[in-house]
Amino acid sequence: MFSKNLKVLIGILVTTVSTNLYGQDLLARQAPLDRKMRAIDSVALQQQISIEQSEYPAFSLYPSWNNERTHVYADVALPDTFRIDLRGFSMPTTNQKITSRFGYRRRFRRQHKGLDIKVYIGDTICAAFNGKVRIVDYERRGYGKYVVIRHDNGLETIYGHLSKHLVKENDYVKSGEPIGLGGNTGKSTGSHLHFETRLLGQEINPELLFDFPNQDVTCDFYTFYSPRSKRKAALAKGEIPKSEVRYHKVRSGDTLSKIARKHGVTIKQLCRLNNINTRTVLRLGQLLRYS
Ligand SMILES: [Zn+2]
Repeated sequence: MFSKNLKVLIGILVTTVSTNLYGQDLLARQAPLDRKMRAIDSVALQQQISIEQSEYPAFSLYPSWNNERTHVYADVALPDTFRIDLRGFSMPTTNQKITSRFGYRRRFRRQHKGLDIKVYIGDTICAAFNGKVRIVDYERRGYGKYVVIRHDNGLETIYGHLSKHLVKENDYVKSGEPIGLGGNTGKSTGSHLHFETRLLGQEINPELLFDFPNQDVTCDFYTFYSPRSKRKAALAKGEIPKSEVRYHKVRSGDTLSKIARKHGVTIKQLCRLNNINTRTVLRLGQLLRYS
């Protein structure tokens, strides 16, 4: 998880401590050395962690840092499970009224990947946790004025339809710090906050984490399960028949890993089911069996 530098650093520290203590009384060395080593280890670790965290939060979880694109993780493998620390949260808005929930919207035939909360133009919108601002941008047909923050706890949050940005890209923000003002920009009818919570790009229903009516989080630690591990569990419990055959229609931008991730299967399984290999070029509209 940590870089080679860390091992080298600890190595150097170990050498230094041994040399310094060498001339001292043997008895005095025995027990305290162990304690000192542990203290030094944790200091070195803490230093290394803070160096890595200052490059970008959630260093070990995310492959890179970029300010260009909101959705950049389609090809990154998700961990099967990940514990998200929700302590230190702040409510993004003091408003309590949910106007549209997360999930499939029949009217638009698409998923609503966030939660809409009623806000008024000019209402203060706050960072949900400590973190670093990854994107500050405007999308005329989508989010409108929006902000993406990567938090130290691994989550990324998105705040859409703002009337004004109050932060810049690469700013560090504290939990509860104002990041924008509520608005009605982009694809929006009536002022509201569109709020998304994601782990490595995988959307999580914000209501599983945040309870807006009660202005609280639902728990201290939320355990995330990837679609793949959920599918495995459902198969094991017999909730999905093993024989069920399902297809995915290839769309623009699809890759094998993106399709595999979407349906909770491995690339290997996809290849086996479709008699293809990882170098096979996918055609638009092609049907790929994924179960
Ligand atoms: Zn929305």
